[in-house]
Amino acid sequence: MAQKKAIIFGAGPAGLTAAYELLKRTDVKPVIYEMTGDIGGIAKTVHYKGNRIDIGGHRFFSKSDRVMQWWLNIFPLSETDAPFSLERSDKVMLVRNRISRIYYLRHFFEYPISLQSSTFLKLGIGKIAAMALSYIQAKVWPLKKEDNLEEFFINRFGRVLYATFFKHYTQKVWGVSCRRISAEWGRQRIKSLSITKIVLTALKKILFVPDVSLEQKKTATSLITRFMYPKFGPGQLWEEVARIVRQRGGEIHLKCKVIAVNYRGGRVTGIQVKGENDKEPTVVDGDYFLSTMPIKELICGFGGEVPSAARQVADGLIYRDFITVGLLVKKLTIKNTTAIKTYNDLIPDTWVYVQERDVKLGRIQVFNNWSPYLVKDKDTVWLGLEFFCYEGDRFWRRSDGDITQFAVQDLITIGFIDRDDVLDSVVIRMPKAYPAYFGSYKDIDVVRSFVNGIDNLFLIGRNGMHQYNNMDHSMLTAMAAVDNIVKGVTSKENIWGLHETKEYIESE
Ligand SMILES: Cc1cc2nc3c(=O)[nH]c(=O)nc-3n(C[C@H](O)[C@H](O)[C@H](O)COP(=O)(O)OP(=O)(O)OC[C@H]3O[C@@H](n4cnc5c(N)ncnc54)[C@H](O)[C@@H]3O)c2cc1C
Repeated sequence: MAQKKAIIFGAGPAGLTAAYELLKRTDVKPVIYEMTGDIGGIAKTVHYKGNRIDIGGHRFFSKSDRVMQWWLNIFPLSETDAPFSLERSDKVMLVRNRISRIYYLRHFFEYPISLQSSTFLKLGIGKIAAMALSYIQAKVWPLKKEDNLEEFFINRFGRVLYATFFKHYTQKVWGVSCRRISAEWGRQRIKSLSITKIVLTALKKILFVPDVSLEQKKTATSLITRFMYPKFGPGQLWEEVARIVRQRGGEIHLKCKVIAVNYRGGRVTGIQVKGENDKEPTVVDGDYFLSTMPIKELICGFGGEVPSAARQVADGLIYRDFITVGLLVKKLTIKNTTAIKTYNDLIPDTWVYVQERDVKLGRIQVFNNWSPYLVKDKDTVWLGLEFFCYEGDRFWRRSDGDITQFAVQDLITIGFIDRDDVLDSVVIRMPKAYPAYFGSYKDIDVVRSFVNGIDNLFLIGRNGMHQYNNMDHSMLTAMAAVDNIVKGVTSKENIWGLHETKEYIESE
Protein backbone atom coordinates (compact mmCIF):
# COMPACT_ATOMS: atom_id res chain seq x y z
CA MET A 1 0.00 0.00 0.00
CA ALA A 2 1.28 3.46 -0.88
CA GLN A 3 2.57 5.50 2.01
CA LYS A 4 0.04 8.06 3.25
CA LYS A 5 0.95 11.73 2.92
CA ALA A 6 0.17 14.69 5.14
CA ILE A 7 0.42 18.01 3.35
CA ILE A 8 1.36 20.82 5.72
CA PHE A 9 0.90 24.49 4.80
CA GLY A 10 3.68 26.53 6.40
CA ALA A 11 7.09 25.87 8.00
CA GLY A 12 6.55 27.82 11.23
CA PRO A 13 6.55 26.24 14.71
CA ALA A 14 3.15 24.57 14.21
CA GLY A 15 3.88 23.10 10.77
CA LEU A 16 7.33 21.84 11.81
CA THR A 17 6.01 20.35 15.05
CA ALA A 18 3.30 18.50 13.10
CA ALA A 19 5.90 17.13 10.65
CA TYR A 20 8.25 16.05 13.46
CA GLU A 21 5.44 14.36 15.41
CA LEU A 22 4.14 12.55 12.33
CA LEU A 23 7.59 11.13 11.64
CA LYS A 24 7.99 10.08 15.25
CA ARG A 25 4.59 8.49 15.74
CA THR A 26 3.17 7.39 12.37
CA ASP A 27 4.08 6.05 8.93
CA VAL A 28 2.54 9.13 7.34
CA LYS A 29 5.01 11.17 5.31
CA PRO A 30 4.90 14.92 6.00
CA VAL A 31 5.34 17.27 3.07
CA ILE A 32 5.58 20.96 3.96
CA TYR A 33 4.99 23.83 1.55
CA GLU A 34 6.33 27.15 2.78
CA MET A 35 5.72 30.31 0.80
CA THR A 36 8.81 32.20 1.98
CA GLY A 37 12.42 31.13 1.68
CA ASP A 38 12.71 30.89 5.48
CA ILE A 39 12.19 28.31 8.17
CA GLY A 40 10.48 29.26 11.44
CA GLY A 41 7.57 31.53 10.45
CA ILE A 42 7.28 34.47 12.85
CA ALA A 43 9.82 32.66 15.07
CA LYS A 44 12.57 32.74 12.46
CA THR A 45 15.93 34.40 13.01
CA VAL A 46 16.93 36.98 10.43
CA HIS A 47 20.64 37.30 9.66
CA TYR A 48 22.07 40.74 8.90
CA LYS A 49 25.80 41.23 8.37
CA GLY A 50 26.74 38.87 11.17
CA ASN A 51 24.07 40.14 13.57
CA ARG A 52 20.85 38.24 14.17
CA ILE A 53 17.30 39.49 14.67
CA ASP A 54 14.57 37.70 16.51
CA ILE A 55 11.30 39.17 15.24
CA GLY A 56 9.28 39.79 18.34
CA GLY A 57 11.66 38.34 20.85
CA HIS A 58 10.69 34.73 21.47
CA ARG A 59 10.90 33.40 24.97
CA PHE A 60 10.90 29.63 25.14
CA PHE A 61 8.72 29.10 28.13
CA SER A 62 5.63 26.98 28.60
CA LYS A 63 3.41 25.74 31.36
CA SER A 64 3.13 22.53 29.35
CA ASP A 65 5.77 19.95 30.31
CA ARG A 66 5.16 18.28 26.96
CA VAL A 67 6.37 21.39 25.15
CA MET A 68 9.26 22.12 27.53
CA GLN A 69 10.54 18.55 27.11
CA TRP A 70 10.06 18.71 23.34
CA TRP A 71 12.27 21.80 23.10
CA LEU A 72 14.88 20.32 25.42
CA ASN A 73 14.93 17.21 23.31
CA ILE A 74 16.03 19.33 20.37
CA PHE A 75 18.46 21.57 22.28
CA PRO A 76 19.56 20.67 25.84
CA LEU A 77 20.11 23.34 28.46
CA SER A 78 23.48 25.02 28.37
CA GLU A 79 25.69 24.12 31.27
CA THR A 80 26.86 27.67 31.56
CA ASP A 81 25.14 30.88 30.63
CA ALA A 82 27.59 33.41 31.93
CA PRO A 83 27.81 36.26 29.41
CA PHE A 84 30.53 35.80 26.82
CA SER A 85 31.60 32.51 28.27
CA LEU A 86 32.82 30.25 25.55
CA GLU A 87 29.82 27.98 25.39
CA ARG A 88 31.32 24.98 23.66
CA SER A 89 28.23 23.63 22.01
CA ASP A 90 26.20 25.73 19.60
CA LYS A 91 23.05 23.62 19.84
CA VAL A 92 21.96 24.65 23.32
CA MET A 93 19.30 26.54 25.20
CA LEU A 94 20.64 29.38 27.30
CA VAL A 95 18.70 30.31 30.41
CA ARG A 96 18.01 34.02 30.35
CA ASN A 97 16.74 36.46 32.92
CA ARG A 98 13.67 38.24 31.78
CA ILE A 99 13.88 41.93 32.53
CA SER A 100 11.46 44.04 30.56
CA ARG A 101 10.41 47.37 31.88
CA ILE A 102 7.96 50.06 30.86
CA TYR A 103 9.44 53.37 29.74
CA TYR A 104 6.99 56.16 30.59
CA LEU A 105 7.34 59.83 31.52
CA ARG A 106 11.07 59.35 30.69
CA HIS A 107 11.37 56.89 33.57
CA PHE A 108 11.61 53.11 33.77
CA PHE A 109 8.84 51.28 35.61
CA GLU A 110 8.91 47.60 36.42
CA TYR A 111 6.63 45.42 34.29
CA PRO A 112 4.14 44.61 35.56
CA ILE A 113 4.02 47.70 37.75
CA SER A 114 5.43 46.81 41.14
CA LEU A 115 5.01 48.45 44.47
CA GLN A 116 8.30 50.11 45.23
CA SER A 117 9.17 53.47 46.68
CA SER A 118 10.59 54.48 43.26
CA THR A 119 7.19 53.84 41.61
CA PHE A 120 5.61 56.25 44.07
CA LEU A 121 8.32 58.84 43.42
CA LYS A 122 8.04 58.61 39.63
CA LEU A 123 4.26 58.73 39.47
CA GLY A 124 3.68 61.09 42.39
CA ILE A 125 1.59 60.44 45.45
CA GLY A 126 -1.50 62.11 43.91
CA LYS A 127 -1.58 59.71 40.98
CA ILE A 128 -1.00 56.70 43.21
CA ALA A 129 -3.87 57.76 45.46
CA ALA A 130 -6.15 58.21 42.44
CA MET A 131 -5.15 54.73 41.21
CA ALA A 132 -5.84 53.16 44.59
CA LEU A 133 -9.26 54.87 44.88
CA SER A 134 -10.35 53.94 41.39
CA TYR A 135 -9.14 50.37 41.97
CA ILE A 136 -11.26 50.13 45.13
CA GLN A 137 -14.18 51.62 43.24
CA ALA A 138 -13.81 48.98 40.48
CA LYS A 139 -13.80 46.21 43.06
CA VAL A 140 -16.78 47.51 45.02
CA TRP A 141 -18.86 48.68 42.05
CA PRO A 142 -17.59 46.80 39.00
CA LEU A 143 -19.06 47.61 35.60
CA LYS A 144 -21.94 45.23 35.01
CA LYS A 145 -21.16 44.84 31.34
CA GLU A 146 -17.76 43.45 30.34
CA ASP A 147 -17.99 43.08 26.59
CA ASN A 148 -14.95 44.97 25.47
CA LEU A 149 -11.31 45.27 26.50
CA GLU A 150 -11.76 48.68 28.12
CA GLU A 151 -14.45 47.31 30.44
CA PHE A 152 -12.28 44.26 31.11
CA PHE A 153 -9.30 46.43 32.15
CA ILE A 154 -11.39 48.83 34.25
CA ASN A 155 -12.97 45.97 36.20
CA ARG A 156 -9.56 44.43 36.91
CA PHE A 157 -7.40 47.50 37.52
CA GLY A 158 -9.66 50.54 37.94
CA ARG A 159 -10.10 53.48 35.60
CA VAL A 160 -6.95 55.45 36.49
CA LEU A 161 -4.51 52.54 36.24
CA TYR A 162 -6.17 51.57 32.96
CA ALA A 163 -5.82 55.09 31.56
CA THR A 164 -2.19 55.34 32.70
CA PHE A 165 -0.73 52.02 31.62
CA PHE A 166 -3.10 50.10 29.37
CA LYS A 167 -5.24 52.40 27.25
CA HIS A 168 -2.69 54.09 25.02
CA TYR A 169 -0.26 51.22 24.69
CA THR A 170 -3.01 48.77 23.71
CA GLN A 171 -4.22 51.29 21.14
CA LYS A 172 -0.68 51.62 19.84
CA VAL A 173 -0.46 47.84 19.43
CA TRP A 174 -3.85 47.34 17.79
CA GLY A 175 -4.46 50.68 16.10
CA VAL A 176 -8.03 50.81 17.45
CA SER A 177 -9.68 51.85 20.69
CA CYS A 178 -9.88 49.26 23.49
CA ARG A 179 -13.65 49.65 23.20
CA ARG A 180 -13.51 47.90 19.81
CA ILE A 181 -11.52 44.90 21.04
CA SER A 182 -13.30 41.88 22.48
CA ALA A 183 -12.93 41.30 26.23
CA GLU A 184 -11.98 37.74 25.29
CA TRP A 185 -8.52 38.96 24.31
CA GLY A 186 -7.97 40.25 27.85
CA ARG A 187 -9.35 37.06 29.38
CA GLN A 188 -6.94 34.95 27.33
CA ARG A 189 -3.88 37.11 27.66
CA ILE A 190 -3.83 38.43 31.18
CA LYS A 191 -6.37 36.41 33.06
CA SER A 192 -4.01 35.41 35.83
CA LEU A 193 -2.57 38.84 36.54
CA SER A 194 -4.23 40.77 39.31
CA ILE A 195 -3.38 43.54 41.72
CA THR A 196 -3.39 40.96 44.54
CA LYS A 197 -0.70 38.99 42.72
CA ILE A 198 1.34 42.14 42.17
CA VAL A 199 1.15 42.86 45.94
CA LEU A 200 2.14 39.25 46.76
CA THR A 201 5.07 39.37 44.35
CA ALA A 202 6.26 42.60 45.95
CA LEU A 203 6.02 41.01 49.40
CA LYS A 204 7.94 37.95 48.23
CA LYS A 205 10.71 40.21 46.97
CA ILE A 206 10.82 42.09 50.24
CA LEU A 207 11.09 38.77 52.10
CA PHE A 208 13.77 37.53 49.66
CA VAL A 209 11.86 34.42 48.64
CA PRO A 210 13.70 33.21 45.54
CA ASP A 211 11.60 32.24 42.52
CA VAL A 212 13.99 31.05 39.89
CA SER A 213 12.75 27.65 38.77
CA LEU A 214 12.16 27.29 35.07
CA GLU A 215 8.81 25.62 35.66
CA GLN A 216 7.36 28.55 37.59
CA LYS A 217 3.90 27.16 37.08
CA LYS A 218 2.40 29.02 40.01
CA THR A 219 3.70 32.39 38.91
CA ALA A 220 1.19 34.59 37.11
CA THR A 221 2.15 34.53 33.49
CA SER A 222 3.28 38.16 33.36
CA LEU A 223 5.66 37.71 36.26
CA ILE A 224 7.83 34.99 34.82
CA THR A 225 11.43 35.88 35.37
CA ARG A 226 13.45 33.27 33.47
CA PHE A 227 13.13 31.63 30.12
CA MET A 228 15.08 29.42 27.75
CA TYR A 229 16.54 30.76 24.56
CA PRO A 230 18.45 29.05 21.74
CA LYS A 231 22.01 30.33 21.58
CA PHE A 232 21.49 31.89 18.13
CA GLY A 233 17.85 32.85 18.41
CA PRO A 234 14.55 31.00 17.90
CA GLY A 235 15.11 30.29 14.21
CA GLN A 236 18.14 28.19 15.12
CA LEU A 237 15.91 25.69 16.93
CA TRP A 238 13.36 25.60 14.11
CA GLU A 239 16.11 25.14 11.51
CA GLU A 240 17.33 22.17 13.53
CA VAL A 241 13.80 20.71 13.60
CA ALA A 242 13.62 21.19 9.81
CA ARG A 243 16.94 19.39 9.42
CA ILE A 244 15.66 16.44 11.47
CA VAL A 245 12.39 16.35 9.51
CA ARG A 246 14.28 16.13 6.22
CA GLN A 247 16.76 13.60 7.59
CA ARG A 248 13.89 11.33 8.70
CA GLY A 249 12.21 11.38 5.30
CA GLY A 250 9.92 14.42 5.41
CA GLU A 251 9.97 17.02 2.65
CA ILE A 252 10.08 20.79 2.97
CA HIS A 253 9.54 22.88 -0.14
CA LEU A 254 10.46 26.53 0.30
CA LYS A 255 9.15 29.41 -1.81
CA CYS A 256 6.04 27.37 -2.61
CA LYS A 257 2.75 29.03 -1.82
CA VAL A 258 -0.49 27.13 -1.26
CA ILE A 259 -2.96 29.06 -3.41
CA ALA A 260 -6.01 26.83 -3.62
CA VAL A 261 -7.67 23.85 -2.00
CA ASN A 262 -9.36 21.11 -4.05
CA TYR A 263 -12.47 20.06 -2.21
CA ARG A 264 -14.82 17.25 -3.23
CA GLY A 265 -17.38 15.12 -1.41
CA GLY A 266 -16.72 16.75 1.95
CA ARG A 267 -12.97 16.04 1.81
CA VAL A 268 -9.89 17.91 0.71
CA THR A 269 -8.41 15.90 -2.17
CA GLY A 270 -5.41 18.07 -2.91
CA ILE A 271 -4.02 21.56 -3.02
CA GLN A 272 -2.63 23.84 -5.68
CA VAL A 273 0.86 25.08 -5.03
CA LYS A 274 2.79 27.76 -6.88
CA GLY A 275 6.57 27.98 -6.76
CA GLU A 276 8.34 31.31 -7.06
CA ASN A 277 9.09 30.87 -10.76
CA ASP A 278 6.12 28.74 -11.75
CA LYS A 279 3.72 30.10 -14.35
CA GLU A 280 1.03 27.58 -13.44
CA PRO A 281 0.21 25.95 -10.11
CA THR A 282 0.94 22.28 -9.46
CA VAL A 283 -1.72 20.03 -7.96
CA VAL A 284 -0.49 18.06 -4.96
CA ASP A 285 -2.56 15.17 -3.58
CA GLY A 286 -2.53 13.97 -0.01
CA ASP A 287 -4.44 12.12 2.66
CA TYR A 288 -4.32 14.66 5.48
CA PHE A 289 -4.03 18.45 5.24
CA LEU A 290 -2.74 20.57 8.11
CA SER A 291 -3.00 24.31 7.61
CA THR A 292 -1.09 27.01 9.46
CA MET A 293 -1.80 29.63 6.78
CA PRO A 294 -4.13 32.50 7.70
CA ILE A 295 -7.77 31.34 7.83
CA LYS A 296 -8.76 34.28 5.66
CA GLU A 297 -6.57 33.05 2.81
CA LEU A 298 -7.35 29.38 3.34
CA ILE A 299 -11.08 29.97 3.00
CA CYS A 300 -10.47 32.12 -0.08
CA GLY A 301 -8.54 29.16 -1.53
CA PHE A 302 -11.69 27.00 -1.43
CA GLY A 303 -13.18 29.09 -4.24
CA GLY A 304 -16.97 28.83 -4.55
CA GLU A 305 -17.24 25.73 -2.34
CA VAL A 306 -17.62 27.64 0.92
CA PRO A 307 -21.01 28.63 2.39
CA SER A 308 -21.36 32.37 1.89
CA ALA A 309 -21.70 33.10 5.63
CA ALA A 310 -18.34 31.42 6.33
CA ARG A 311 -16.72 33.26 3.44
CA GLN A 312 -18.02 36.58 4.73
CA VAL A 313 -16.65 35.99 8.22
CA ALA A 314 -13.27 34.85 6.86
CA ASP A 315 -13.09 37.94 4.64
CA GLY A 316 -13.74 40.17 7.63
CA LEU A 317 -10.88 38.81 9.78
CA ILE A 318 -8.28 41.44 10.58
CA TYR A 319 -4.55 41.13 11.24
CA ARG A 320 -2.17 43.59 12.80
CA ASP A 321 1.18 43.85 11.06
CA PHE A 322 4.55 44.75 12.33
CA ILE A 323 7.80 46.44 11.29
CA THR A 324 11.10 45.92 13.09
CA VAL A 325 14.04 48.19 12.49
CA GLY A 326 17.30 46.47 13.37
CA LEU A 327 19.56 49.29 14.54
CA LEU A 328 23.24 48.92 15.35
CA VAL A 329 24.62 51.64 17.61
CA LYS A 330 27.92 52.27 19.34
CA LYS A 331 26.24 52.77 22.69
CA LEU A 332 23.06 53.88 24.42
CA THR A 333 23.01 57.26 26.06
CA ILE A 334 20.58 55.96 28.66
CA LYS A 335 22.54 54.17 31.38
CA ASN A 336 21.96 51.20 33.59
CA THR A 337 20.76 52.56 36.91
CA THR A 338 19.66 49.19 38.26
CA ALA A 339 21.69 47.08 40.67
CA ILE A 340 22.18 44.49 37.94
CA LYS A 341 25.74 44.37 36.60
CA THR A 342 25.91 44.54 32.81
CA TYR A 343 28.60 44.62 30.18
CA ASN A 344 29.44 48.21 29.17
CA ASP A 345 26.76 49.51 31.52
CA LEU A 346 24.03 48.49 29.08
CA ILE A 347 20.45 48.58 30.40
CA PRO A 348 19.61 45.03 31.54
CA ASP A 349 16.27 44.73 29.73
CA THR A 350 15.60 42.11 27.10
CA TRP A 351 12.96 44.49 25.85
CA VAL A 352 11.34 47.78 26.86
CA TYR A 353 7.68 48.71 26.43
CA VAL A 354 7.60 52.31 25.22
CA GLN A 355 4.53 53.94 26.73
CA GLU A 356 5.61 57.47 25.84
CA ARG A 357 2.79 59.22 24.00
CA ASP A 358 5.01 61.45 21.84
CA VAL A 359 6.49 58.60 19.76
CA LYS A 360 5.09 55.83 17.57
CA LEU A 361 7.76 53.37 18.69
CA GLY A 362 6.10 50.46 20.53
CA ARG A 363 8.92 48.35 21.92
CA ILE A 364 12.69 48.22 21.95
CA GLN A 365 14.41 44.85 21.83
CA VAL A 366 17.95 44.76 23.19
CA PHE A 367 19.27 41.73 21.36
CA ASN A 368 22.55 41.70 23.34
CA ASN A 369 20.48 40.73 26.36
CA TRP A 370 18.49 37.98 24.63
CA SER A 371 21.73 36.24 23.75
CA PRO A 372 25.17 37.80 23.41
CA TYR A 373 25.61 35.44 20.46
CA LEU A 374 23.08 37.42 18.41
CA VAL A 375 25.58 40.27 18.19
CA LYS A 376 28.71 40.19 16.06
CA ASP A 377 30.72 42.80 17.98
CA LYS A 378 30.00 42.75 21.70
CA ASP A 379 31.06 46.38 22.02
CA THR A 380 28.10 47.48 19.89
CA VAL A 381 24.43 47.53 20.87
CA TRP A 382 22.05 45.69 18.56
CA LEU A 383 18.45 46.89 18.89
CA GLY A 384 15.09 45.99 17.41
CA LEU A 385 12.74 48.96 17.18
CA GLU A 386 9.19 47.76 16.79
CA PHE A 387 6.31 49.56 15.14
CA PHE A 388 2.77 48.23 14.93
CA CYS A 389 0.92 49.08 11.73
CA TYR A 390 -1.36 47.71 9.02
CA GLU A 391 0.05 46.18 5.86
CA GLY A 392 -0.37 48.79 3.15
CA ASP A 393 -0.96 51.76 5.49
CA ARG A 394 1.08 54.95 5.18
CA PHE A 395 3.77 53.82 7.57
CA TRP A 396 4.11 50.38 5.94
CA ARG A 397 4.48 51.98 2.50
CA ARG A 398 7.25 54.38 3.51
CA SER A 399 10.70 53.59 2.12
CA ASP A 400 13.14 51.67 4.31
CA GLY A 401 15.28 54.80 4.55
CA ASP A 402 12.32 56.88 5.80
CA ILE A 403 11.30 54.26 8.34
CA THR A 404 14.86 54.09 9.67
CA GLN A 405 15.06 57.86 10.02
CA PHE A 406 11.72 57.88 11.80
CA ALA A 407 12.87 55.11 14.15
CA VAL A 408 16.15 56.87 14.93
CA GLN A 409 14.32 60.12 15.64
CA ASP A 410 11.89 58.36 18.02
CA LEU A 411 14.82 56.87 19.89
CA ILE A 412 16.56 60.24 20.14
CA THR A 413 13.30 61.89 21.31
CA ILE A 414 12.99 59.53 24.26
CA GLY A 415 16.66 59.97 25.13
CA PHE A 416 18.05 56.54 24.26
CA ILE A 417 20.73 57.35 21.67
CA ASP A 418 22.76 60.04 19.96
CA ARG A 419 22.44 60.27 16.19
CA ASP A 420 26.23 60.10 15.79
CA ASP A 421 26.29 56.65 17.38
CA VAL A 422 24.18 54.99 14.67
CA LEU A 423 26.29 52.48 12.73
CA ASP A 424 23.88 50.49 10.55
CA SER A 425 20.24 49.51 10.12
CA VAL A 426 17.85 47.11 8.40
CA VAL A 427 14.06 47.20 8.03
CA ILE A 428 11.97 44.01 8.28
CA ARG A 429 8.25 43.87 7.53
CA MET A 430 6.26 41.06 9.13
CA PRO A 431 2.73 40.84 7.78
CA LYS A 432 -0.04 39.19 9.83
CA ALA A 433 1.97 39.18 13.04
CA TYR A 434 -1.17 39.42 15.20
CA PRO A 435 -4.60 37.90 14.54
CA ALA A 436 -7.06 40.53 15.78
CA TYR A 437 -9.96 39.91 18.14
CA PHE A 438 -12.14 42.44 16.41
CA GLY A 439 -13.46 42.72 12.85
CA SER A 440 -15.55 39.59 12.19
CA TYR A 441 -13.77 37.60 14.92
CA LYS A 442 -16.91 37.39 17.09
CA ASP A 443 -18.53 35.21 14.40
CA ILE A 444 -15.55 32.92 13.84
CA ASP A 445 -17.59 29.88 14.92
CA VAL A 446 -19.29 30.03 11.52
CA VAL A 447 -15.93 29.35 9.84
CA ARG A 448 -14.99 26.77 12.45
CA SER A 449 -18.09 24.73 11.86
CA PHE A 450 -17.44 24.68 8.10
CA VAL A 451 -13.79 23.54 8.43
CA ASN A 452 -14.54 21.15 11.30
CA GLY A 453 -16.89 19.29 8.99
CA ILE A 454 -13.98 18.36 6.71
CA ASP A 455 -12.55 15.18 8.23
CA ASN A 456 -9.07 15.29 6.73
CA LEU A 457 -8.41 19.03 7.23
CA PHE A 458 -6.81 20.28 10.45
CA LEU A 459 -6.42 23.96 11.28
CA ILE A 460 -3.48 24.48 13.63
CA GLY A 461 -1.20 27.23 14.91
CA ARG A 462 -1.66 30.95 15.34
CA ASN A 463 -3.05 32.47 12.15
CA GLY A 464 -4.06 28.95 11.16
CA MET A 465 -6.71 29.12 13.90
CA HIS A 466 -6.85 32.92 14.24
CA GLN A 467 -5.85 32.63 17.88
CA TYR A 468 -3.32 34.73 19.75
CA ASN A 469 -1.12 31.68 20.34
CA ASN A 470 2.43 31.66 21.57
CA MET A 471 4.76 29.00 20.21
CA ASP A 472 3.78 26.51 22.89
CA HIS A 473 0.08 26.63 22.08
CA SER A 474 0.77 26.65 18.36
CA MET A 475 2.80 23.48 18.93
CA LEU A 476 0.18 21.88 21.18
CA THR A 477 -2.46 22.31 18.47
CA ALA A 478 -0.12 20.56 16.02
CA MET A 479 0.49 17.74 18.51
CA ALA A 480 -3.28 17.38 19.08
CA ALA A 481 -3.88 17.15 15.31
CA VAL A 482 -1.30 14.35 15.10
CA ASP A 483 -2.93 12.64 18.12
CA ASN A 484 -6.16 12.61 16.11
CA ILE A 485 -4.46 11.21 13.01
CA VAL A 486 -2.90 8.46 15.13
CA LYS A 487 -6.24 7.58 16.73
CA GLY A 488 -8.32 8.09 13.59
CA VAL A 489 -10.39 10.75 15.37
CA THR A 490 -12.11 13.21 13.06
CA SER A 491 -13.52 15.62 15.67
CA LYS A 492 -11.48 18.78 16.10
CA GLU A 493 -12.86 19.68 19.52
CA ASN A 494 -9.66 18.74 21.33
CA ILE A 495 -7.68 21.12 19.09
CA TRP A 496 -9.97 24.14 19.51
CA GLY A 497 -10.47 23.18 23.15
CA LEU A 498 -6.81 23.92 23.87
CA HIS A 499 -7.64 27.61 23.72
CA GLU A 500 -10.04 27.41 26.61
CA THR A 501 -7.35 26.01 28.89
CA LYS A 502 -4.39 28.03 27.73
CA GLU A 503 -2.44 30.27 30.00
CA TYR A 504 -0.14 32.75 28.41
CA ILE A 505 3.21 34.14 29.25
CA GLU A 506 1.73 37.59 28.48
CA SER A 507 1.56 40.25 25.87
CA GLU A 508 4.10 39.93 23.09
C1 LIG B 1 6.00 40.20 18.24
C2 LIG B 1 5.81 38.76 18.59
C3 LIG B 1 6.41 38.24 19.75
C4 LIG B 1 6.24 36.90 20.09
N1 LIG B 1 6.84 36.42 21.23
C5 LIG B 1 6.67 35.13 21.57
C6 LIG B 1 7.32 34.60 22.72
O1 LIG B 1 8.03 35.30 23.45
N2 LIG B 1 7.15 33.28 23.01
C7 LIG B 1 6.37 32.48 22.25
O2 LIG B 1 6.27 31.29 22.55
N3 LIG B 1 5.72 32.96 21.16
C8 LIG B 1 5.85 34.26 20.81
N4 LIG B 1 5.21 34.75 19.70
C9 LIG B 1 4.26 33.89 18.97
C10 LIG B 1 4.91 32.97 17.96
O3 LIG B 1 5.62 33.74 17.03
C11 LIG B 1 3.81 32.19 17.26
O4 LIG B 1 3.01 31.51 18.19
C12 LIG B 1 4.33 31.12 16.32
O5 LIG B 1 5.27 31.64 15.42
C13 LIG B 1 3.15 30.57 15.53
O6 LIG B 1 3.57 29.49 14.78
P1 LIG B 1 2.74 29.05 13.51
O7 LIG B 1 3.49 27.98 12.86
O8 LIG B 1 1.33 28.81 13.89
O9 LIG B 1 2.66 30.34 12.58
P2 LIG B 1 3.76 31.19 11.84
O10 LIG B 1 4.96 31.37 12.67
O11 LIG B 1 3.03 32.41 11.37
O12 LIG B 1 4.14 30.29 10.59
C14 LIG B 1 3.24 30.11 9.52
C15 LIG B 1 4.05 29.85 8.27
O13 LIG B 1 3.15 29.61 7.20
C16 LIG B 1 3.63 30.26 6.04
N5 LIG B 1 2.50 30.48 5.12
C17 LIG B 1 1.50 31.38 5.24
N6 LIG B 1 0.66 31.28 4.19
C18 LIG B 1 1.14 30.30 3.41
C19 LIG B 1 0.72 29.75 2.18
N7 LIG B 1 -0.37 30.19 1.55
N8 LIG B 1 1.45 28.75 1.63
C20 LIG B 1 2.59 28.30 2.25
N9 LIG B 1 3.05 28.80 3.41
C21 LIG B 1 2.31 29.79 3.99
C22 LIG B 1 4.25 31.53 6.57
O14 LIG B 1 5.17 32.08 5.66
C23 LIG B 1 4.90 31.04 7.85
O15 LIG B 1 6.22 30.63 7.64
C24 LIG B 1 5.41 36.08 19.30
C25 LIG B 1 4.80 36.61 18.14
C26 LIG B 1 5.00 37.93 17.80
C27 LIG B 1 4.34 38.49 16.57
